Amino acid sequence: MLKIQNLSATVGEGEAAKTIINGLSLEVPAGEVHAIMGPNGAGKSTLSYVLTGRDGYEVTGGAATLDGQDILAMEPEDRAAAGLFLSFQYPVEIPGVPVMTFVRTAMNAQRKARGQAEISAPDYLKKSREVAKMLNLDADMLKRPVNVGFSGGEKKRLEIYQMLMLEPRFMVLDETDSGLDIDALRTVAEGVNALRAPERGMLVITHYQRLLDHIKPDKVHVLAKGRIIKTGGPELALRLEEEGYDGVLAEAV
Ligand code: ADP
Ligand code: MG
Ligand code: MG
Repeated sequence: MLKIQNLSATVGEGEAAKTIINGLSLEVPAGEVHAIMGPNGAGKSTLSYVLTGRDGYEVTGGAATLDGQDILAMEPEDRAAAGLFLSFQYPVEIPGVPVMTFVRTAMNAQRKARGQAEISAPDYLKKSREVAKMLNLDADMLKRPVNVGFSGGEKKRLEIYQMLMLEPRFMVLDETDSGLDIDALRTVAEGVNALRAPERGMLVITHYQRLLDHIKPDKVHVLAKGRIIKTGGPELALRLEEEGYDGVLAEAV
């Protein structure tokens, strides 16, 4: 499903350009959930920015495909319409645009790309109510501008709301667990687990093993110095929690 081959990418312009992703290869088959762990500054967030096509990041080598489609050649909005969903470590605020308007627009772009008709207002509201209930989201929050004045926990819940509404083909969650209390963490994990499906893949980027107690990954990858240096099962996350990264970093040299 998601296939990244020998990917390299820089951040910054001209002389200041710096290689952050450096020969990274990774495959996540449909139906699987993979975790990426790694020390601070390893390039985890950069990988998710490169996959979304954010300004300021330049791919200098390699390839990334989703269902065989070259996603790096696509405009950011086409990547989203193709079903790629990324939740960011630092969610953006969108003043003036209510959550409902934002999410419905994104849903309709995705439906259009799939050759489906727009979702009707009543259908949207019905689904929105179900999802909000599951996530314990205040309906009033969905009328407010996207992320403006939201607490850290509310922003994360909102991302899960978006995911459950959009039902993307592939999701990348970048430290969706950071700064969450135990209840919010459980809510996030429930939302993610509800989206597990044979046709859907997920990449969960996290610093901590605790999220992986709730979201059981099929594989765990260690990202360091811009590439995957080790891959294992859930036991690898437990080992990292206990030993830190020094051991696997030393083995990789
Ligand atoms: P992680 O998410 O794994 O903690 P990041 O992907 O955020 O790491 O960052 C990887 C490295 O890239 C860090 O050394 C960071 O300082 C650097 N970096 C990220 N963005 C920029 C930027 N805009 N300009 C220069 N360096 C950057
Ligand atoms: Mg970090
Ligand atoms: Mg990061």
